[in-house]
Amino acid sequence: MVSKDMLAKVKGGSAIRKLFEEGAELGRKYGPENVCDFSLGNPNVPAPESVKRAMIDVLEMTDPNKLHGYMPNVGFPEVREAIAADINKKHGTALGARNIVMCTGAAAGLNVVLKTLLDPGSEVLAFAPFFVEYGNYVSNHGGVMKVIPPNFPDFRPDPAALAACISPKTRALIINSPNNPTGIVYSEDDIRAIASVLEAKQAEYGTDIYLISDEPYRELVYDPQTVVPYVPAFYRNTVVCYSWSKSLSLPGERIGYVCVPSEVSDFGDIMDCLSVATRIMGFVNAPSLQQLSVIRCLDDKADIAFYKRNRDMLCEGLSAAGLEFARPDGAFYLWVKSPIADEQRFVEMAKKHLLLLVAGSGFACPGYVRLAYCTAPEVIERSIPKFKALMEDVKKEIG
Ligand code: PLP
Repeated sequence: MVSKDMLAKVKGGSAIRKLFEEGAELGRKYGPENVCDFSLGNPNVPAPESVKRAMIDVLEMTDPNKLHGYMPNVGFPEVREAIAADINKKHGTALGARNIVMCTGAAAGLNVVLKTLLDPGSEVLAFAPFFVEYGNYVSNHGGVMKVIPPNFPDFRPDPAALAACISPKTRALIINSPNNPTGIVYSEDDIRAIASVLEAKQAEYGTDIYLISDEPYRELVYDPQTVVPYVPAFYRNTVVCYSWSKSLSLPGERIGYVCVPSEVSDFGDIMDCLSVATRIMGFVNAPSLQQLSVIRCLDDKADIAFYKRNRDMLCEGLSAAGLEFARPDGAFYLWVKSPIADEQRFVEMAKKHLLLLVAGSGFACPGYVRLAYCTAPEVIERSIPKFKALMEDVKKEIG
């Protein structure tokens, strides 16, 4: 017999697994070339050549006992030192290896942080819409996910709504910028406004409220003028979860880190707990080949211009089809208002045209759908007449 909780998650909520299966099934039935799958955030741009070179160099140049052996749970000291030095160079900080824990991507980073911070019943907040899996990560560790209602129509963080959701049980707020699913990049003013609410509430309740900045899309911004703020500079109790899944197109390699600045409350305890959490969570340490490879590629990025071209093409096509959305500044998602109130029905109608979209309800924000445009450009080209035909169906439906 399996866990009732897991079974419920698999049957009801495991949206991502379902999307994988659905895309493959439609491809088998109608031919993959006829399906326009915008469902998954799986990078379509290959990892830069430098990554392959780095992996080969590491394989050829590293003592196999070191490369394939156990290591400190938090990762190789020289890797953590190199990452700290890179953050110092980019953000003028004074971090060292002591501030970094290597993890198997941002998902694991978030889980070890929540494992470290949460007691049963601790509350964790996130601004809707947010990444589908946050609720699962929080409940993994006995926490309670509290949704900050969406701030229509621009979805920027609303400080008043945040303040209204904070209680003495609030242990953390998760933010994500550039954002999945909206593509919004939070400005310095947004971060300052969040920080000022958290400071005030910490003082009011005499608690520590940690700000977890989930940053797998940090490098994916389209305009060179767009600054992705370094969040710890604005709020002392910030923990950053970073990943190379998207910036280097390495989601299958499972590599990222958690950064905890020394000023964070209970820094020593947090670092001790994080280093044990990696074992308890069962991944023990991040893959050694990937650790040693990414530090050789700290200045490299996947081809962001590719995603920008996709964004522009998709925005133009969807506008022409009559759909409403805000043009994303980063990540590779478009957050589109459903032309009918029931977005799940819209998703089903889209499927008839072999367009795969994701319903906003999964992101705690019904009435919208998400399109991931990390696809081949031809998929976008082929999708535009399909969206136009879909909107004709919508017109018939709403009369
Ligand atoms: N956080 C957000 C907002 C994401 O979109 C994703 C993946 O899509 C993750 C975390 C997990 O990323 P990783 O592959 O680094 O675990």
